[in-house]
Amino acid sequence: MPARKKLFGTNGVRGIVNEFLTPDFVLKMGKAIGTEMKGNIAVATDTRTSNVMLKDALIAGILSTGSDVADLGVIPTPALQFRVKKGRFTGGAMITASHNPPQFNGVKAISTDGTEASSEEEERIEDAYYSGNFVVAEWNGVGSVTPYFDAASDYISAIAEKVNSELIRERKFTVVLDCSNGASAYTAPYLMELLGVRVVTLNSQAQGSFPGHESEPTPENLKDLVRTVKNLGADMGIAHDGDADRAVFVDEKGRYIPGEQSLALIAREIIREKHGATVVVPVSTPSVVEEAIKEFGGKTVYTRVGSPVVARKMMEVGSVIGGEENGGIINPQMQYCRDGGMTAAKMLEIVAERGPLSALIDSLPKFYTVKLKVEIADNNPADILRKVREKASASRVDETDGLKLFLDEGWVLVRPSGTEPLIRIFAESRSEKNAKKYAEDHLKLVKSLMS
Ligand code: MG
Repeated sequence: MPARKKLFGTNGVRGIVNEFLTPDFVLKMGKAIGTEMKGNIAVATDTRTSNVMLKDALIAGILSTGSDVADLGVIPTPALQFRVKKGRFTGGAMITASHNPPQFNGVKAISTDGTEASSEEEERIEDAYYSGNFVVAEWNGVGSVTPYFDAASDYISAIAEKVNSELIRERKFTVVLDCSNGASAYTAPYLMELLGVRVVTLNSQAQGSFPGHESEPTPENLKDLVRTVKNLGADMGIAHDGDADRAVFVDEKGRYIPGEQSLALIAREIIREKHGATVVVPVSTPSVVEEAIKEFGGKTVYTRVGSPVVARKMMEVGSVIGGEENGGIINPQMQYCRDGGMTAAKMLEIVAERGPLSALIDSLPKFYTVKLKVEIADNNPADILRKVREKASASRVDETDGLKLFLDEGWVLVRPSGTEPLIRIFAESRSEKNAKKYAEDHLKLVKSLMS
C-alpha cells in the first residue's frame, strides 16, 4: 500500500483550488466528515472565490451520509465555532484557507464543543477518507439543509455582552478597520457600531480575490491601515485575516503592533484582575508574555505549537487567556478558540480603561527576536535536532516542540516546520546583538550537520 498522505496540516486541509482542492476531493471530505461527526453539522465559508463551489460539494457529501447541515453562509471561523457550541451541533466545517493567498482554499473541522478538531478527530476523518468506508444513507434518509441567517448577529451581540460595552461607548473611539476583504466584512464593522465606535473601513467589502492586499495581516500588507490611522488621528487600527480568527492592531501613533505584544498586553490586563491566573502559549512565544504577567503573579504554561493544542491545555489548567504570537488570541470569556472579534472588543475595553494604546505598549518589557530558516531537503529533521542537542551548550533544554535551548542571555528555538522541509530558528534576548548572534550561530550549526 502506498504511504498515506496526511491531509490535515496545522490548520485544516489546505491546497490550491482545482489542483489539490477540487470539488471531487471536497465531496469525499464531506462524506468523511458526515461519517465521523454524524448528526447535525454547521457549515460556513470565508469570502474566497471558490467558496460556493466547495461548500456545495462538502454539503452534498455530508447529506449523503444522512447527516443534516445548517448553512451559516459567509462568516468568520470563530462565529461558526460559537454557533456550533451554542447550537449543540455534532460538529462543524469551515471552508477557508485563513491568511493564505486567494488561489488557496481549505477545509477545517470543528468539534462539537466549538474548538478546532483535535489531531485524533482529524485522523478519524482521514481514516474514513482513505478507507472509503462512508455511511451511505438510504434514499429516504438523506440529510437536509437549513439555511441559518443569524450567525453573524448572534456572534457580535455575544461579544458585546462579554466586554464593558458601556465604557467603550463613553470613550467615543474612532477606529480604522481593515477586514482584508474577508469574512469579517459581515461582522466587524457592525460589532464596532454596536460598541458605539466611529468606524472607518478599509477593504471591508467581501471579495475573495483579495484586491486590497493578501489576507495575512503583516506590516507590509497593512501600510494603508497605518497611514489612515495617522491621517485621521484615529484611536487605533484593527485588521483581521481572511477568516477573522486573528486581530492585529496599530496604535494611535501609527505603529504596527506585533502579535506577541498585543497578546502580552491583553494577558497582563486580564491577569491584573485575576491575580495569579495562568496563561497558555506555545514554546515559540516571545518572553514578553511571561514577563508582562509576572508582576501580577501570572503563571505561563508552554505547549507544542498549534492553536488546538493551546486551547485544550487552557481547558485542562483553567487558564484565563492564551494564544499565538500572530494575533490569534483565545479568550475563554467568549470561547476556547482564536477569535478576532473578541480580541478586538477586549482591546477596545482595555484602551477605554487605561489607554492610550501606545502608552500601554510602551510599558511592556522589551525583547529582541530574530527568525531564520534553513532548507533541509532530504535530511531527517529528527537526526539534525539530536545532533544540535549534543553540540549545543545550553543551561536548560525544553523539548516540548523542537529544541528550546536556554542560553546565558536568552534562548533559541530550533524547530522543524510541520508543513515544509525546513528548520526554523527563533532566537530571543533582551539585547539585539545577542538575539542576532544566537540565531546566526545556530543557523551555522544546523547547516554544518546536514549531509
Ligand atoms: Mg485565520
